[in-house]
Amino acid sequence: MNTRLSTEVAIIGGGIVGASAALFLRRRGVPVVLLDADRCGSRASGVNYGGVRRQGRALAQMPLTRRAHELWNDLPNLIGTDGEFVRSGHLKLARNEADMAALAAYRDQTRGFGMNLELVTGAAFRARFPWLADGVIGGSFCPQDGHANPRLVTPAIARRARELGADIREHAAVTQVARDGDRYVLRVGDTLEVTVRTVLNCAGAWGKQFAAQFGEVVPETVIRPLMMVTEPLPVFMTASLGIQGGGIYARQIDRGNCIIGGGRVADNTSTYARPSSAAMHALMAATAALLPRLRHASVIRFWSGIEGNMPDHNPVLGPSLTTPNLFHAFGFSGAGFQIGPAVGEVLASLAATGTTDIPIDAFGIARFTAPARPSVEPLLPVGHTLEST
Ligand SMILES: Cc1cc2nc3c(=O)[nH]c(=O)nc-3n(C[C@H](O)[C@H](O)[C@H](O)COP(=O)(O)OP(=O)(O)OC[C@H]3O[C@@H](n4cnc5c(N)ncnc54)[C@H](O)[C@@H]3O)c2cc1C
Repeated sequence: MNTRLSTEVAIIGGGIVGASAALFLRRRGVPVVLLDADRCGSRASGVNYGGVRRQGRALAQMPLTRRAHELWNDLPNLIGTDGEFVRSGHLKLARNEADMAALAAYRDQTRGFGMNLELVTGAAFRARFPWLADGVIGGSFCPQDGHANPRLVTPAIARRARELGADIREHAAVTQVARDGDRYVLRVGDTLEVTVRTVLNCAGAWGKQFAAQFGEVVPETVIRPLMMVTEPLPVFMTASLGIQGGGIYARQIDRGNCIIGGGRVADNTSTYARPSSAAMHALMAATAALLPRLRHASVIRFWSGIEGNMPDHNPVLGPSLTTPNLFHAFGFSGAGFQIGPAVGEVLASLAATGTTDIPIDAFGIARFTAPARPSVEPLLPVGHTLEST
């Protein structure tokens, strides 16, 4: 073994969750090493749509998303950049009266969480959003939600954590993690051995294999949302869009490019999810139908990413049931970018004090797994695709 080090906390994974945990641990003065198989923010956290929205989240996520909203507003103070976070508002569209009724019910259920949802229909809706196709009858507008540039945010969080003293190691895939007395020993091939008191499993779509090492088998699957970006166009889209019940989502940045997501990539063989031409055509057709101004726009890039998905679309977040001082935070099911900073803060609190003020019981690993025998499966390198059982 080339290098051995001993510290308090090891974080596996430098996505927005792990990087934020490192940042908040250092703000508490806790010694921490972060190990990422690739580069911080190179996976789901760096290739996502960039939606920074509270609207549409499950009720159980409300306290977490509210705290995240405060952190996003404070980003320049926290990490020295706003990450191009724009409070454009988030507009969830209704295609029929049943959609409108669902949006009204959601507004009523989430009152008290500061989203100030505003339902808009009829002539007022048409006048305010004239660039939408006629098939849409109204929507729910969340004025302070918005969007940001995912390529900037996570690397900036990791950089700030490093400035505050976090030991951040990239291209450092954890190949083994095991309990040794009251400590953990993590190995990065035969180059690095790290001994710590506490481990944070922030490995995204690869999180379930670390849980399995400690006898916690969970049904995390892999999803690959499809994304595309157009050439720069005159700015017309005044809000980030989603559709009640699912469909495409779209935003436009100041430079004029429109970023649109929708559908999934089925490819399950490549390290980097590769869009199929059928999925690309379906996304372009759905976009042209909703946004007439994009009918003749050129798409300059398609891409996807690898994301961990749970059956109930809520993450696994909280302590291991089998092993002390092990905390899981993975399986964000296509929606971890906005809540990521708050999840990192919660993890830092759990690692430092064992508790958190934000309610997270709904995300406990107990909802999926009865403790089993620890897995004897070898850990897969990050490049390998993890298909669920
Ligand atoms: C295309 C796409 C669009 C999305 N759009 C949105 C959106 O608009 N809004 C939103 O809120 N969410 C969105 N999401 C979801 C969001 O991006 C994720 O939920 C979030 O980024 C998850 O962060 P993470 O830190 O848990 O995981 P990741 O960013 O995947 O980070 C996990 C890290 O673990 C590392 N790792 C894995 N195995 C090992 C190992 N053995 N050793 C060391 N490191 C390891 C990986 O290299 C990776 O960097 C989208 C996701 C995708 C893919």
